[in-house]
Amino acid sequence: MKRARVLLLNSAIGPLDYRVERDQPVEPGSVVLAPLGPRQLTGVVWEPDHMPSDAEVGDNRLRPLAGVYDIPPLQAPLRRLIEWTADYYLAPPAAVLRMALASASALDGGRTVIEYRPTGLIPDRMTPQRTQALERLGDRQGLIRELAMIAGVSDGVIRGLVNAGAIEAIEVSIDDPFPYPDPDHAPPALSAEQGAAAAALVEAVGQGGFNTFLLDGVTGSGKTEVYFEAVAAALRMGKQTLVLLPEIALTEPFLRRFSARFGCAPVAWHSDLRQTQRRHAWRAIVTGEAKVVVGARSALFLPYANLGLIVVDEAHEASFKQEDGVMYHARDVAVMRAQFERLPIVLASATPAIETRAQVTAGRYAELKLPTRHGGAQMPDIAAVDLLADPPPRGRWLAPTLLAAVEETIERGEQVLLFLNRRGYAPLTLCRACGHRFQCPNCTAWMVEHRLTSRLACHHCGHVMPVPRRCPACETEDALVACGPGVERIADEIAALLPDARTVIVTSDTIWSPARAAEFVGRMEDGEIDIVVGTQLVTKGYHFPELTLVGVVDADLGLTGGDLRAAERSFQQIAQVAGRAGRGAKPGRVLIQTREPNAPVIRALVAGDAEGFYAAETEARREAGMPPFGRLAAIIVSSEDLAEAASTARMIGRSAPSVEGMAVFGPAPAPLAMLRGRHRQRLLVHARRQLDVQDVIRTWLGALEWPRSVRVAVDVDPYSFV
Ligand code: ADP
Ligand code: ZN
Repeated sequence: MKRARVLLLNSAIGPLDYRVERDQPVEPGSVVLAPLGPRQLTGVVWEPDHMPSDAEVGDNRLRPLAGVYDIPPLQAPLRRLIEWTADYYLAPPAAVLRMALASASALDGGRTVIEYRPTGLIPDRMTPQRTQALERLGDRQGLIRELAMIAGVSDGVIRGLVNAGAIEAIEVSIDDPFPYPDPDHAPPALSAEQGAAAAALVEAVGQGGFNTFLLDGVTGSGKTEVYFEAVAAALRMGKQTLVLLPEIALTEPFLRRFSARFGCAPVAWHSDLRQTQRRHAWRAIVTGEAKVVVGARSALFLPYANLGLIVVDEAHEASFKQEDGVMYHARDVAVMRAQFERLPIVLASATPAIETRAQVTAGRYAELKLPTRHGGAQMPDIAAVDLLADPPPRGRWLAPTLLAAVEETIERGEQVLLFLNRRGYAPLTLCRACGHRFQCPNCTAWMVEHRLTSRLACHHCGHVMPVPRRCPACETEDALVACGPGVERIADEIAALLPDARTVIVTSDTIWSPARAAEFVGRMEDGEIDIVVGTQLVTKGYHFPELTLVGVVDADLGLTGGDLRAAERSFQQIAQVAGRAGRGAKPGRVLIQTREPNAPVIRALVAGDAEGFYAAETEARREAGMPPFGRLAAIIVSSEDLAEAASTARMIGRSAPSVEGMAVFGPAPAPLAMLRGRHRQRLLVHARRQLDVQDVIRTWLGALEWPRSVRVAVDVDPYSFV
């Protein structure tokens, strides 16, 4: 009697035991189909000692497994990663497993057809038609109908030959195989400093074993070229590489550069794939056919057949943190995956996170530095524009200094990037007559005017409404005014002042797919665009040699809100967008508009003193015991009912255990006090680094009960404080 413990794809139930029939090939990691009540669910066989069950069932009451999928079992390192992730982020293991089995249709097999071909066997009973068929077919292969046509006989004759064993059926995949990247297609000539960094990575790939590298190179230093050498080394060993990018908009420039280096595109994995593409990619990943996979964070949990290297590009990016469902940080989990799989991992960034720098200081990560731009390109010249001393005219947003620089640049035939991290036309719309402000009915947020689509939209829940002619509060007509700028308003200002300039807006509203990004890149490269007005979407990854001026429209924007990483994030964002300037032969210039030219962030950017800025930030974090020197976890309580959310949050707060080295703040209404129609309360747990804060929270919340309509989410290592 064999039994198997199965982790089912249902977060609400724990692992269950099943009976394994004699002919079912089952081992830990096998993907199976198991009955649950009247239904059948997919699950994965797990080692019982890793996945305790709270409902042991006697042999005689076990139900048999319904089936075993014909795919390779999930390997032990991935099973350990799933357990670790569930444990660390206080998530149901099934929710993590779901990310590994990310294509339900892929489990059912590749898309195949049955084709037929002669076996060489001559049947005992021959007819003139059979002879003709076998002669004409030679070793051709095809569908019955196709073979009948080639042979000039009826389908029935071919079928008869199949029955007689003269023609056999074979299963053929109709997915084209993915092309195999060639490590020697077009290797670059590396500079001495690039070569040294690449050699260290290549050696690590060759040796195997867990090893974390921070590839810390200034913007334009050739970090991609350097880690491509490590990818080439993995390819030569027949191993797979996973490259994680922070958002799918970056996939397109990456695919092109990859093709130029390796002769063909890698396998892409992101939310924009069609179901057939997803199934195709998933199966190629599981079989090892997909040699290099580039993807957003969800690619991290896929069941790679023989992974040899992980790269996390733009590793400082906050978008690696998932903010719903399993709230994991893909950079951190990627390092754990490398550890379980025993392989090297490269974190590439021009502005590494303080957390990552601390690991280097502690000696846990090896640092590879690229201090200069490739090919003699100079770092751009950065200056602040004091908006109090040199203000734009009323109702405009570009100071005269910046505007003059824009004009000069496009007169020289070069390109300009104006950065403002605000989609839409204006962040706030109000009625001139009565002061009514348009607020989202579902969220504590203003409705943002989008003139391109003539709508007011909530950027939190997606609620949209037409822009009304009359104010809904006082009925005055045509009295709505836009307050503050968004990218569309900056583009309008440019159109009014520089009517001949060819301007495009680049935000998630205009570039929502890799194909749109490709079109944008093509137009930039062909010189069809003079000015780009964009959000953080254009701050990273792109390389446009003719782009020589970057203007930061409002550098103070990121500093408000006062979350833990506000200053660091501002520094990174502005340093990254500045890094788009002057990447080719022509020198670049950056103008930063600010009301606080003496703020430490701005001073550090202008002086090019990243080290000084990071040192001060790191010290402040150390003193406050904040991450990475201490730990944070947020508990977010939400309900459609305000009183219910508040009372549950208070109850959780009152039950907080007193643990040495841990403090609980709140509950308090979240800054986004209402989100998607749910009222939100937050508690913040602050603990010393050594404390197993997850264990404390698990026990604490595990002993409590709350109404079903209340949701309690725990965000371990939070990045969002709203
Ligand atoms: P980073 O990612 O560090 O900002 P990139 O890898 O984008 O820098 O490199 C900047 C530009 O310089 C790219 O166009 C890249 O192809 C080019 N480049 C970098 N190193 C080399 C090299 N050794 N040979 C040729 N081109 C290079
Ligand atoms: Zn909303």
